[in-house]
Amino acid sequence: MRPIGPNTIGLTATVPVEVLLAAGATPLDLNNVFITSEDPTALVAEAEHRGFPINCCAWIKGIYATVRRLGIRRVIGVAQGDCSNTHALMEVLASEGIEVIDFNYPYPKDTCVLAAAIDGLAARLGTTRGAAEARREHLAGVRRTLAGIDRLTWQDDKVAGEENHLWLVGSSDFGGNVADYAGRAEAFLEEARAREPLVSRYRLGYLGIPPICSGLYAFLEDLDARVVFNEFQRQFSMPTESADLIEQYAAYTYPYGTDGRIEDIRRAVGERRLDGLVHYVQSFCFRHIQDRLLREAVDVPIVTLEFDRPLPLDGRSRTRLEAFVEMLDT
Ligand code: SF4
Repeated sequence: MRPIGPNTIGLTATVPVEVLLAAGATPLDLNNVFITSEDPTALVAEAEHRGFPINCCAWIKGIYATVRRLGIRRVIGVAQGDCSNTHALMEVLASEGIEVIDFNYPYPKDTCVLAAAIDGLAARLGTTRGAAEARREHLAGVRRTLAGIDRLTWQDDKVAGEENHLWLVGSSDFGGNVADYAGRAEAFLEEARAREPLVSRYRLGYLGIPPICSGLYAFLEDLDARVVFNEFQRQFSMPTESADLIEQYAAYTYPYGTDGRIEDIRRAVGERRLDGLVHYVQSFCFRHIQDRLLREAVDVPIVTLEFDRPLPLDGRSRTRLEAFVEMLDT
């Protein structure tokens, strides 16, 4: 369990973490803490016990219960650009005495509005965009290391899909300690470079938000299909070099429309030689509607996997994935 201090700020989604670091705050991605907790299902049940509906996304409920369990006093919530459920979540948290701070990505994408949002966050936390730019330069090294781990996944076949997922998804808050995260990532990169290449018959891309179920990557590898592209996790790591914060967060495809995502996915399909795509959708999530747009835009087979609670991959999903991988042979 990560230590929670007076400077800890919980995050409901990826925000310009450079601003928090410039303000001397410790970022804590509540999604990651929830899903890696000892019993995430119990956290969901706790939120339901406190009035969250059954037919509400389990991530929202897990975030709520995590904030309460850890005694977090400040939370940055992203509604526009992540999830409208966050509006209600933040209202509930505020009603319980927690300081809530909004950060909204512009829709449609607009760099002037984005700059104003980043400036607004910086002012609220008592820092400036200039100070955050300095932190951005400081993070360039660890972001390059993460890009190296990603390349070792698809170019050199030396990193497993789940390892790639864990390293990239953790970059939303760098585990609360950038120097430690950077050191561990560098050590992992060195260790992975020395490995023999992994051999798998099929190369898959994983689309959508990180899975709430466990065992997905290992199950696919048992089917001789390895994930060599984790769409959103890679986006969280901000893999492309940018001139400044505005360019960096404008290039981030997660908060805007599907057009940027489709361009990113198409590039990955070609570059990473993907045989198929697994699109994960969370039960009760608006992103499920976008499944159709992704299917229409790419020309490799896609299987859509829906899951509700943080549980091991179930029998029905396993059967569907088996059928999908078998179909790649034909
Ligand atoms: S999975 Fe969908 S509904 Fe759940 S928090 Fe994320 S965006 Fe919102």
